[in-house]
Amino acid sequence: MISDDSIVALSSGRLPAGIAVIRISGPKTRFVVETIAGGMVRDRVATLRKLRADDGSLIDNGLVLFFPGPASFTGEDVAEFHVHGGRAVAGRILETIAGFDGVRHAEPGEFTRRAFLNGKLDLVETEALADLVNAETEAQRRFAVQNAEGAQSALYLGWRRRLIHARAMIEAEIDFSDEEDVPGSVSDTVWSNVRAMIDEISRHIDGFHAAEIIRDGFEVVILGAPNAGKSSLFNALARREAAIVTDEPGTTRDLLEVVLDLNGVRVRVTDTAGLREAPGKVEAIGIEKARAKAHTADLVLLLEDLTNPVAVGATPVNGPVLKIGSKVDLLKGDPTAGAYDATISTVEGTGLAELLAEIGARAAAAIGDAGDILPSRLRHVELLSETRRFLTSALSGQERGQELRAEELRLAADRLGRIVGAVDVEDLLDVIFSQFCIGK
Ligand code: GDP
Repeated sequence: MISDDSIVALSSGRLPAGIAVIRISGPKTRFVVETIAGGMVRDRVATLRKLRADDGSLIDNGLVLFFPGPASFTGEDVAEFHVHGGRAVAGRILETIAGFDGVRHAEPGEFTRRAFLNGKLDLVETEALADLVNAETEAQRRFAVQNAEGAQSALYLGWRRRLIHARAMIEAEIDFSDEEDVPGSVSDTVWSNVRAMIDEISRHIDGFHAAEIIRDGFEVVILGAPNAGKSSLFNALARREAAIVTDEPGTTRDLLEVVLDLNGVRVRVTDTAGLREAPGKVEAIGIEKARAKAHTADLVLLLEDLTNPVAVGATPVNGPVLKIGSKVDLLKGDPTAGAYDATISTVEGTGLAELLAEIGARAAAAIGDAGDILPSRLRHVELLSETRRFLTSALSGQERGQELRAEELRLAADRLGRIVGAVDVEDLLDVIFSQFCIGK
């Protein structure tokens, strides 16, 4: 699908910068290059040219690259102008190019949208490309680049191929059921394959939480009585004064969060209001928030002042808890050995490196192995769950007849097709491409 109009945008980052890259895609690309650069350049070879405005005046010297379609990112003719990264330079080039008939400024994600519509990328690869551009940690980058290279799509397309084959086998059995040379055991093989696939899909869906941790972060919540030293620990972990540390109990009423990068994994640490009986009204809201946050945390750090342990009552927690004794510098001797997973002093810095290492190790374990293929969007999980539902129904539907069961196999394969965008996804495109920045 070749578009009628051509699009142009600044594809590199914030200006001023060393270099700005302005990209154009569409049928006018060749004409724009010829006009601005004073003639065509060789395909896919960076060429230094004088770039001129419509009145013939020099805008800048820059590199020009031309990628003829369909072997380009969008599948259309594409050109890049690498110019000095000043605001006025980039602005003038953009304005000059957008001034050509049939050329306009691109919408966010429009280059990638064209690449998708021209079959250069499937939908999952497109989403992974958005993740790659947004990746801040090493784990996010690794995960995104693997999916942008097609690992996740290959898994779904493989399952889809197996289902299409299974359905063909069942339909063949229906069509030739009178003939003796179609053995009845074909369907036994098919259904045991389907059963295996249901297990594979279930295991894959279970990996979604690991993908969420890679994207959104491993959630650590600090809990404890007022004055247990929570804010001090929070600050020490953040290595900056992000929470107010005072001697007055109950000052941390709201939730404060800091995002850390521990060995390439995103980790979110939340400080909470001190838990105690009979709090004031406002404080009670903070305590409620703290309990709710702890409930969904991947790891709870339960702090207790070693010099003044205060029971905080039962807190519903799903994930693991590390019980931490604080203010170990004030303690004479070691009477509490064994009662705590770790002891720390934020004043002297004791135990903090070990605690950070422990949190980092748990976060790394939660995201699994680097090579694991995980569903990267809730959208994938929803469609995979529908796939599994159709398969489970087909598998258990002996009394409904082979035709209906074959139809359920078709519906299951269709849901897998929707994940990668092989079938009918027009309704999804705006949502997906709006995640991109302009120029991508
Ligand atoms: P929170 O109410 O649990 O957030 O506790 P804070 O972090 O505000 O600390 C309460 C008090 O304990 C403050 O006076 C801190 O200076 C003090 N404190 C916190 N951590 C330590 C520590 O490791 N050693 C000592 N000696 N004092 C600490």
